[in-house]
Amino acid sequence: MPATLIDGKAIAEQINAETIVEIARLKNQCGVTPGLAVVLVGENPASVTYVSMKDKVCARLGMHSERVSLPATTRESELLANINNLNLKQEIHGILVQSPLPPQISEEKVFAAVSPAKDVDGFHPLNVGKLANGDPTGFVPCTPAGVHELLIRSGVRIDGAHVVVLGRSRIVGRPLSLILSQKAAHANATVTVCHSRSRNLAEICRSADVLIAAIGVPGFVKADMVRDGAVVIDVGVNRLEDKTSDKGYRIVGDVDFDAVSQRALLITPVPGGVGPMTIAMLMHNTVRAARMQHGAS
Ligand code: NAP
Repeated sequence: MPATLIDGKAIAEQINAETIVEIARLKNQCGVTPGLAVVLVGENPASVTYVSMKDKVCARLGMHSERVSLPATTRESELLANINNLNLKQEIHGILVQSPLPPQISEEKVFAAVSPAKDVDGFHPLNVGKLANGDPTGFVPCTPAGVHELLIRSGVRIDGAHVVVLGRSRIVGRPLSLILSQKAAHANATVTVCHSRSRNLAEICRSADVLIAAIGVPGFVKADMVRDGAVVIDVGVNRLEDKTSDKGYRIVGDVDFDAVSQRALLITPVPGGVGPMTIAMLMHNTVRAARMQHGAS
C-alpha cells in the first residue's frame, strides 16, 4: 500500500493559526506587534524566493517585517554594523540572516553578532550550546524544529525509535539529531547521523524506523534503502532543470519519492512537506522572542 502523505502545508497552517492567537495575546497584554528583520546579502535566486515568502507570511499573520537588502559585494564590517542596528531596534524582536553569504563574509562571525535574544534562527553559539545542553530556554533552528513538529503532529512515536538522519550540517542534520536524542517528551530517539564519509549507508538507512534525508542530493534515497513501514522525511530542496515547466526548473527532494512511497508508511512530499514548516517555526520563534523581550507570560 502506498505511503500516507504528511501534509506539511496543512500542519504549518495549524501552527500559523496558533501563532495568530499568540500575536493577538501579545498585542492585548503589552501593546506589542512582533517584528522580524530578514537580512539578504546578494541576489541568490533561491534566497530571494525564501525571503519574499517570509515577508508574505509575516504580513498574513499580522507581524511587522523589515527587509535589509545588501549587495553581494558588501564587506563583513558593513553587514555586522547592520546587524548591530537591528539588535538595538526596539520594534525588531527576531533577526534572520539569509544564508548562503558571499565568500568574503564569515558566517561564524555573523551568527555570533546577532543578539541571542533575537536569534530566531538558533545559530548563535549560545543557543547552539543551550540545545546541546537540553536547556529549553534557547532558540532551536527552524528547519529541524519544523521536522520535529511534523513528526509530533503526525503521531509518529519518536520515543525509543531508531532515527537515521542523513546529513550533519549545523542548519539541519546536527541540530535535528540533538533535538531527537534529548531526554525529553517527544524525543528519546536512538539517533544515527550519517554523512559523506559514512560506510554501509544503505544498510544503516534500512534499519531506520524514521529516516530523515537532509543532504541536498536529488533522489538519493532509493526504495531499497528504506524498510517497509518506515517514516520518511525529506528535507532536501533541489532545483532540477525542466524545460517543460514555466519556471524552467522543478523542485525535488533528496528522496526518490515515487519508489520510496511504495514502501514507507508515512512520507513528506517536496514541495509541501518540510518547507512550509520552516517558515511557520520562524514565525513561532519570532513571537516567542517578542514575548520574552517584553517579559510576557
Ligand atoms: P549542507 O550544509 O550541504 O550539508 C549536507 C550534508 O549532507 C553534509 O553533512 C554532507 O556530508 C552530507 N552529504 C552530502 N552528500 C552526501 C552523500 N552522498 N552521502 C551522505 N551524506 C552526504 O546542506 P544543508 O544546508 O543541511 O541542506 C540539506 C538539504 O536540505 C538541501 O537540499 C537544502 O536545500 C535543504 N534544506 C531545506 C530546508 C527547508 O526549509 N526545507 C532548509 C534548509 C535546507 P559532509 O558533512 O561529510 O560533507
